[in-house]
Amino acid sequence: MELTSNLFSILDEMEHEQIVHCFDKETGLRAIIAIHNTVLGPSLGGTRVWKYSNEADALQDVLRLSRGMTFKSSISGINLGGGKAVILADDNVKRDERYWRKYGEFVNSLGGRYITAEDVGTSTKEIEYIFKETKHVAGKPFHLGGSGDPSPFTAYGVYVSMKASWKKLTGNDSLSGVKVAVQGTGHVGQFLIDHLMSEQAIVSIADINQANLELVTSKYSTIQVVAPNDIATSDVDVYSPCALGATLNASSIPLLKCKVVCGAANNQLKDEVADGDSIMQRGILYAPDFLINAGGVINCYIEATGEYSKKKTMHFIEPIYNKVIEIFNKSEKDHINTQLAAMAIAKDRIKQAKSKSMAN
Ligand code: NAD
Repeated sequence: MELTSNLFSILDEMEHEQIVHCFDKETGLRAIIAIHNTVLGPSLGGTRVWKYSNEADALQDVLRLSRGMTFKSSISGINLGGGKAVILADDNVKRDERYWRKYGEFVNSLGGRYITAEDVGTSTKEIEYIFKETKHVAGKPFHLGGSGDPSPFTAYGVYVSMKASWKKLTGNDSLSGVKVAVQGTGHVGQFLIDHLMSEQAIVSIADINQANLELVTSKYSTIQVVAPNDIATSDVDVYSPCALGATLNASSIPLLKCKVVCGAANNQLKDEVADGDSIMQRGILYAPDFLINAGGVINCYIEATGEYSKKKTMHFIEPIYNKVIEIFNKSEKDHINTQLAAMAIAKDRIKQAKSKSMAN
């Protein structure tokens, strides 16, 4: 995508509905909210805080992430559209309560077209501040009637997807003795590692945050720590990207030694056509990110309906196992990569909803 072209051509190319730039001189807030599609319901997606090298990178990130949210909610069978927000982190700006409440005012100004939640760099603490200014928030802390951190649900969805992928490959879904490299030991990574360790998988990890690594190694002394630059291409059965996106690209794919890629990170493929195709050509099973990491948004959706229960959340998460196998089978049958196979199913649901609403 060429970000020097005008914004309307970008909206057109990626099929977004709206981009909102939020700026407040007093607090130093600089955020971009992108609403990709609201056919199935209001857009929902977390707010990411990241130190982007430039504004174009931030815009590209929010556009890709919000589009992914549309597909994620659609394929999960929930009535939400896709949206996302990024905050351009700046070391000279203090992100205190005032800052987050100002951001909450911007979210509120969208009147519910965008519902925010946690993502990289935000936790229930920030959500609590935002909630003081807008009700259009999910992933609220328990003491405010929310469902808490969505990460355990995301991790569970990734875990069952890994079992489904292994089943497709070997006919057996036990991960006992299977070598798994987890890149990123943050919120999702840590819960995923708990599931893997309880099933006697052989886990290796990498992170750029020493404190997060130590949290894991102090709990599990047998886990091997690998250098961040080596984890993706380490000699394992499964590579699980649980940090940031675009780790599957023209440079990394030829070097992969794994048989399966299955992780929580959004937008793992730098290019969903070219990179999705080269993974397939290498005979590596790629479990589409937006399908398998949907546990968190599903939990937020159930919270947003106002009738939260863990049972209702699990009702939508458990089927991910079968959907992963369905996507692998569709990819084989239609001779398309797994990402495109999953996107076709997600787009079809939106198309049907659109024609139904036009007929009414
Ligand atoms: P997090 O910020 O808690 O954890 C990310 C971890 O990755 C951090 O420990 C960070 O230090 C590490 N990291 C960053 N760059 C790295 C690198 N180059 N090499 C190794 N480690 C690196 O985030 P999270 O909530 O655990 O989410 C992880 C990923 O999953 C993100 O891409 C997020 O968008 C995606 N995701 C999260 C959820 C959720 O429920 N939290 C839902 C869907 C998708």
